Amino acid sequence: MTQPIFMIGARGCGKTTVGRELARALGFQFTDTDLILLQSTGLSVAQIVEQEGWAGFRTRESDILHESANAGGSQVIATGGGIVLSETNRRFMRAVGTVFYLYAPADVLAQRLEAVPEEDQRPSLTGRPIAEEITEILLAREALYQDAAHYVLDASLPPPDVVSAIMQRLCPCAAG
Ligand code: ADP
Ligand code: MG
Repeated sequence: MTQPIFMIGARGCGKTTVGRELARALGFQFTDTDLILLQSTGLSVAQIVEQEGWAGFRTRESDILHESANAGGSQVIATGGGIVLSETNRRFMRAVGTVFYLYAPADVLAQRLEAVPEEDQRPSLTGRPIAEEITEILLAREALYQDAAHYVLDASLPPPDVVSAIMQRLCPCAAG
């Protein structure tokens, strides 16, 4: 069994987009903890947070991370932006798999999220404009992403380039 590959990083960095392409390139199964959360509850993030608070949301998210990884098989697992808030999650991902932090600066993330607001239906964490909020969240979480990651990659590049960079880290010998 191959160890799972985890995608971590802030909302909009491309965990889902790059993770799916990477899984296809490797012939791995693609798992997205955000998607599983929505499918298993039938609720939107906003609805879960409204009913159970952010703590309830985080617990569900962590459970899904562990269940997905423990299910085994060759998988690329895209996570939610806040998965690293839990030290248990950070240690778990590092211990059982290979963790890639997709880094992009706040202005790039804000541009992406503003371009397709309908894809991103999370409630604002602070109620302030998106660029401001992202800057603050990145600042608060940067050390946590770094702590969890085996590799940090430039996620402001186009998705195929990010996929190539990951493949190269996974198996430098096969890089063309
Ligand atoms: P995440 O899962 O990290 O929140 P997504 O994969 O959902 O991020 O991407 C958020 C938005 O940014 C989507 O509209 C996606 O098409 C776009 N996007 C993702 N990665 C890139 C990239 N490397 N370059 C340009 N746009 C991207
Ligand atoms: Mg995603």
